[in-house]
Amino acid sequence: MKVLAVASEAYPLIKTGGLADVVGALPGALAPHGVETTVLLPGYGPILRALSGGKVLHRYTDLMGVKARLLVFANAPFPLIVLDAPDLFGRDGGPYGNDAGVDWPDNWRRFAALGRAGADLAAGVAKAYRPDLLHAHDWQGAMAPAYMRYSGLDIPSVVTVHNIAFQGRFDAAVFAALDLPAAAFAVDGVEYFGGVGFLKAGLHTADAITTVSPTYAAEIGDATFGMGLEGLINARRADVCGIVNGIDTVVWDPATDPYLHANYTAATLRRRAENRQAIEAEFALTPGKGPLFCVVSRLTWQKGMDVLAETLEDLVAMGGRLALLGSGDVALEAAFVAAAQRHPGRIGVRIGYDEALSHLLQGGADAILVPSRFEPCGLTQLYGLRYGCVPVAARTGGLADTIIDANEAALSGGVATGYLFDGVTRANLTRAIARVLDGFSRPKVWRALKRQGMRCDFSWSHSAQRYADLYQSLVKRNP
Ligand code: ADP
Repeated sequence: MKVLAVASEAYPLIKTGGLADVVGALPGALAPHGVETTVLLPGYGPILRALSGGKVLHRYTDLMGVKARLLVFANAPFPLIVLDAPDLFGRDGGPYGNDAGVDWPDNWRRFAALGRAGADLAAGVAKAYRPDLLHAHDWQGAMAPAYMRYSGLDIPSVVTVHNIAFQGRFDAAVFAALDLPAAAFAVDGVEYFGGVGFLKAGLHTADAITTVSPTYAAEIGDATFGMGLEGLINARRADVCGIVNGIDTVVWDPATDPYLHANYTAATLRRRAENRQAIEAEFALTPGKGPLFCVVSRLTWQKGMDVLAETLEDLVAMGGRLALLGSGDVALEAAFVAAAQRHPGRIGVRIGYDEALSHLLQGGADAILVPSRFEPCGLTQLYGLRYGCVPVAARTGGLADTIIDANEAALSGGVATGYLFDGVTRANLTRAIARVLDGFSRPKVWRALKRQGMRCDFSWSHSAQRYADLYQSLVKRNP
């Protein structure tokens, strides 16, 4: 079966978050299940510069008002088609906005074009390639199923919600340029609270909806988590399912990870000390007896980083240290930098994005803090589990589905893998940190926790099977 994945990022070509890890890993994970996945990505400058030898699959003289080409690459990390449209994607800055973090004003046109190109491929615009099913990721890919529906195409489609907080909402004025029938501007089409909603359009028109953990699939039916889309999610409940993300166990393997100073396995955990020393040097931390916590995160409200910033005094007072890597809200960045200045040797902060350092932190810190207010799946806790870096996380979404809390019953049953707490507040996070300190002071308990986490299988094999089964069922429904 041939599946076209329509997405705005895919590791290792372009990444701003977990979406890229998932889209980049799925083609390899699905191949053993008989699914041949081709990824359709926008032709951002860095992608086109990294690849060579693209062959033209199709030329547009006018795609949403610009010239464009569909290029297929044989030398990419996975089967890849790129939408080369320099007027839309060939600019300096990030995939969604400029270097100052301001969204590109024409994002509606950029990602409508991506969706349109996906739908055109599904319709057979390129002789050399036509998928049996289209899989759209997040709002940036979500217009593809809408274009398919409004052009009467009966090839099945899936939309995956990686984070329902990002919805691709635009002014009603853009509708006229979307090249859709007038009837599509309706509650059962792309209209959303008086404007246009790309994710809403995809959720309405795709044959199936998935999200990235079972708990998040349930949560988004609730107003707190659904963020305006809960009604639609509930109306389509029979077509919604949660499939937890896997991780790339080759890229993320402490036994071979080239970013670590010392490689190790569950049997050689002592070697992590060398990585911890490297972190201490990198973050100017004073070696100490207490646990070394780390954070690898976008610095945002979603991730509970404001609550963590408030809790740092408690963390330090209790004897913890922290190495934080992240970027995001300017005020939060400043708060963490100020905390590091107040607590030299105890708190180290690196503002920015650094793939190598993110691996080292997982390979050397004792615990990773993930106090998210909501978390569709979360990957950093999965990397933590695999690396013996004990996750300390809020009980929500994928965090609740992938971590087993170290309560006495779970500890005595030998199944505990981390610490979960309810309600993202300073008091609750402080209590969770106190529990970590207690566990850390009991070497047998701590070793068991780390080993149990490392034994968990978060590879793609199970979840890829679920995607393959879903694809099969949809293709059978539309032979
Ligand atoms: P989200 O996609 O919501 O940001 P996830 O936990 O699903 O959160 O995925 C985040 C991904 O981005 C992980 O692979 C994590 O290691 C990586 N990441 C986040 N911040 C940074 C950073 N500052 N430097 C390097 N990697 C980061």
